[in-house]
Amino acid sequence: MDFQWTPEQQAFRHEVRAFLAEHLPPDWEQMAEGPASHAQTAFAREFCRKLAAAGLLVPHWPARWGGRDADPWTALILAEEMWMAGEPRGGQYMNVNWIGPTLMRYGTPEQQERHIPPMARGEVLWCQGFSEPEAGSDLASLRTRAERAGAGYRINGQKIWTSYAGDADYCFLLARTAPGKAGITIFLVPMDRPGITVRQIPSIIGEGDIHEVFFDDVEVAEEERLGAEGQAWEIIATALNLERVGIPRYALAAKAVRRAVAILQREGRFRGAVADQAARAAAACEAARLYSYALVDKRARGELPGPEASAARYATVLCERLAAEFVVEHLPEALAGGEPLLLAHHQRAIVAGIASGAAEIQLNLIASQLLKLPREPR
Ligand SMILES: Cc1cc2nc3c(=O)[nH]c(=O)nc-3n(C[C@H](O)[C@H](O)[C@H](O)COP(=O)(O)OP(=O)(O)OC[C@H]3O[C@@H](n4cnc5c(N)ncnc54)[C@H](O)[C@@H]3O)c2cc1C
Repeated sequence: MDFQWTPEQQAFRHEVRAFLAEHLPPDWEQMAEGPASHAQTAFAREFCRKLAAAGLLVPHWPARWGGRDADPWTALILAEEMWMAGEPRGGQYMNVNWIGPTLMRYGTPEQQERHIPPMARGEVLWCQGFSEPEAGSDLASLRTRAERAGAGYRINGQKIWTSYAGDADYCFLLARTAPGKAGITIFLVPMDRPGITVRQIPSIIGEGDIHEVFFDDVEVAEEERLGAEGQAWEIIATALNLERVGIPRYALAAKAVRRAVAILQREGRFRGAVADQAARAAAACEAARLYSYALVDKRARGELPGPEASAARYATVLCERLAAEFVVEHLPEALAGGEPLLLAHHQRAIVAGIASGAAEIQLNLIASQLLKLPREPR
């Protein structure tokens, strides 16, 4: 694999950096604390509109849907720069990474016309209604029901940990239409539909980040179902693969390590065991970056990511944890104020390995699918 960036790729990175330099406010690092605060989400709405107008929100989407037909490397460069800047797109990164592309693949022409152009213009915020109180890693056991009612469905149940739900316009919702894994169906539900109640869960990672969402006799039309009844599992397998390689969290972790090292060097405290630990964290960030690049390379060659996606994701979890531990051990005062970038990274790293799926599940997948280890006899 050739790891040199082409002149065009370098120019694109500069274009994104110049946009960020022009459009992020001087106090942005403070705002980037509390990754999904209401203030950041409100800022993201304006920011994404401007990003879209500059052709930088969905460059990797087809021109037909407002993109530039750019390759997966362009998407990666964009995501690296955004994540390093504290993800100023807020929850709209989900639209860009996987909700839009999933609708392009599985939506009806009407669903596509309705939902994709507003995403490409940076005007809508979606949330992901998957997890339930008893169904996180074991998503197939979810209990929210969608029962046939007249020409559509009636939905009852509860979701939990739903990021951005308090500000979202739509929910990409999983609900059960029949028993078992093959009985789960996707609905595209407006969040202002009667019967939906959103309750914020207090959290140290930012007010407005996670929520419970209750569905009480929520009526949805047949046309709001994505795909066929029971097709959710197939559709979300594609969607989650897009999501897993879509967040270059290593980029912010590496930046946090560099920032912490610079402070420690300035203060004459960067030596011995401190330097060793910094090197381990920096090496882990680099490993996660290269694992992710191998996946992007595969995608650029038109191949779907396989079980190596789990290795890339686990490597990323490890690097975020090592970077956070390094800062906590050697620069804890930075987290008490004065270094918003380090605090912003710390808040994101706290949930590494649980927020978009438990790390242990990735380890299971690495063991069974990548290393093909035998299962222990029961
Ligand atoms: C900040 C944050 C934001 C989130 N945002 C969203 C969102 O927007 N939408 C959404 O739908 N969900 C969201 N989630 C939920 C997230 O996807 C779940 O927390 C995650 O899938 C784990 O599920 P769980 O919390 O039920 O934990 P569990 O699945 O109960 O896991 C608990 C522990 O048991 C371990 N474990 C479970 N099963 C196994 C196994 N088979 N083998 C080995 N170990 C296992 C896990 O690794 C974990 O350590 C968010 C979570 C967080 C923390």
